[in-house]
Amino acid sequence: MTSQTYDANNIFAKILKGEIPCHKVYEDNDTLAFMDVMPQAPGHLLVIPKVGSRNLLDADPAVLAKLFPVVQKLAVAARDAFEADGVLISQFNEAAVGQTVFHLHVHVVPRKEGEALKPHSGKMEDHAVLAAHAEKVKACL
Ligand code: 5GP
Repeated sequence: MTSQTYDANNIFAKILKGEIPCHKVYEDNDTLAFMDVMPQAPGHLLVIPKVGSRNLLDADPAVLAKLFPVVQKLAVAARDAFEADGVLISQFNEAAVGQTVFHLHVHVVPRKEGEALKPHSGKMEDHAVLAAHAEKVKACL
């Protein structure tokens, strides 16, 4: 079994500290949402709590209670922005099941019927495209 400690230097913690940039879509006192740099479909974004935990397994339930209404808000906005037929919500807990960044995050992926998902952590998207997609979702919030 892997260590369950939270590393405060993970990449999303650095985004929260402003040490590395992101294409921000939404922010409040407790939550940040930004575009995934390797989207599995256009509009794929991530919602993270500002309080650090590795994933769902070690998160404070009070943090989850604030996080999920924001996930819902972003899912609706992403659906509207991308005229999606549905929205995939996914969340990985530990490397054994595909987690690659160890700060709790929820994937919000608007999807069109019949369009295959691109690979998880696959190809880096162009920053101009990510910036445009962030604006599209923001316009629907
Ligand atoms: P996980 O596999 O941990 O559930 O997902 C991590 C996600 O973070 C992946 O979908 C990956 O594309 C995304 N990601 C990895 N590094 C960065 C980064 O530096 N910035 C952003 N915005 N997304 C990242």
